[in-house]
Amino acid sequence: MAFDLAARLAERRAADLYRQRPLLQSPQGPEVIVDGQRLLAFCSNDYLGLANHPEVIAAWRDGAERWGVGGGASHLVIGHSTPHHAVEEALAELTGRPRALLFSTGYMANLGAITALVGQGDTVLQDRLNHASLLDGGLLSGARFSRYLHNDAASLANRLGKASGDTLVITDGVFSMDGDLADLPALSAVARPKGAWLMVDDAHGFGTLGARGGGIVEHFALGVDEVPVLIGTLGKACGTAGAFVAGSDDLIEALVQFARPYIYTTSQPPALACATLKSLQLLRDETWRREKLAALIGQFRAGAQQIGLVLMDSPTAIQPILVGDAARALKLSAMLRQRGLLVTAIRPPTVPAGGARLRVTLSAAHSEAQVQLLLNALAECHAQLESAHA
Ligand SMILES: *Cc1c(COP(=O)(O)O)cnc(C)c1O
Repeated sequence: MAFDLAARLAERRAADLYRQRPLLQSPQGPEVIVDGQRLLAFCSNDYLGLANHPEVIAAWRDGAERWGVGGGASHLVIGHSTPHHAVEEALAELTGRPRALLFSTGYMANLGAITALVGQGDTVLQDRLNHASLLDGGLLSGARFSRYLHNDAASLANRLGKASGDTLVITDGVFSMDGDLADLPALSAVARPKGAWLMVDDAHGFGTLGARGGGIVEHFALGVDEVPVLIGTLGKACGTAGAFVAGSDDLIEALVQFARPYIYTTSQPPALACATLKSLQLLRDETWRREKLAALIGQFRAGAQQIGLVLMDSPTAIQPILVGDAARALKLSAMLRQRGLLVTAIRPPTVPAGGARLRVTLSAAHSEAQVQLLLNALAECHAQLESAHA
C-alpha cells in the first residue's frame, strides 16, 4: 500500500483541523508583521517581554565573540562549557534546588527525565490535560501508563492504589491550554505517603509565578521533597531557548548517566547560554514585569466578563476564550485578524474534542491600551457572531 498522504491531508482540511504556519517577518513583541500584515499579537509565550530585550541580545552577541557559535559536541564529550555551567548554577539558585541540568528543549527534558526514571514494571500517572511531550515521554518509557482526571487528587489516589514499581506522578504546573494551576500541595500530599515522585513541568509558570519568578514551586513554597523533579523551559518567560530539570544531586547525576535525550545530542550554543544568563537576571530582579503582567490579566478578565465571553479559571497569562466548535474558533480568529489582531485558534487534538478556543496570552510588554484594543475588538466580533447565530 502506498502512503496516501493526500487523503489524510484532505480529511484534516475537511474537519477544519488543518494547520498552517503564519510567517513572522519581525522580532517577537506585541506588534508584529505576519504574512506582510502589521498585527497586534496576543499569542506569544514571551510573557515577560524578554525575547527581544536589548541587554539579552547584547549578551548573546558578546557570548558569540567570546565562545564562538557552535556547541561542538555533546555535554559528555567536550560540549559542556562555562556558560552552560553558569546557567545551571543560576537555575538551581532561582528554583531553590540543589542542582539543575540544562537541556536543549523542553520536549527533550521531558522525554529524558521520564525515560531515565521509569521503565518496564514501573508506573507513570499523568493529568489527562498534560502537554504532549509528557504523554510522549510516558509512552516511550515503557512503564504502565494511566491518566487521572484533571487536577483531581482523589482520582490520582485511586490510580496510585493500583500502581506497581517505581511510580512517577506527572503534571503541568500551569496547564498550557487552560491556564489554571496544578494543585501541587494536594497532589504531593497524595503521592508522597505512597513513595511516588511528583514531577512538575512548569513551562508556563517558571518566570511568571513566585516573587522572584521561581515558578509554581516558589508560589506554593514547595521544596525538593514535595516536588522531587522540576522541569522548566527557557523559551517562554525567559525569552531564549532550552530547558532544565532541577532536583537533588542524585537526580541530576542519574540524568547525566541515563537520560538519552541529554546524552546523545549536541549541547546548545554557548552564546545562547550567555543570553539566558542575562535574561534570568532580568527575570529575577525586574519584579515590575510580573506586577505589570498581573495588572493586565486583571484588566483583561474584568473586560472579557463584561462582554459575556466564556473565560476559564485561570489566574495566569494564558487566558483562553472557550468557543467549542473548531470552525467557529477559526471564524472568530479570522474576524479579529481583519481588525489587526492576532490570536490563534487552538483546536483538537491539541485540546479535547469540542474544546476549541482562542488562546489569548498576555505579556508584560503589552500596554493597557493594547489590551483595551483587544477587548473592544472582541466585543464587536462576539456581538456579530451572536447575532449571526440567533
Ligand atoms: C512549550 C512546552 C514544552 C516544550 O518546551 P520546548 O522548550 O518548547 O520544547 C513542554 N511542556 C510544556 C507544558 C510546554 O508548554
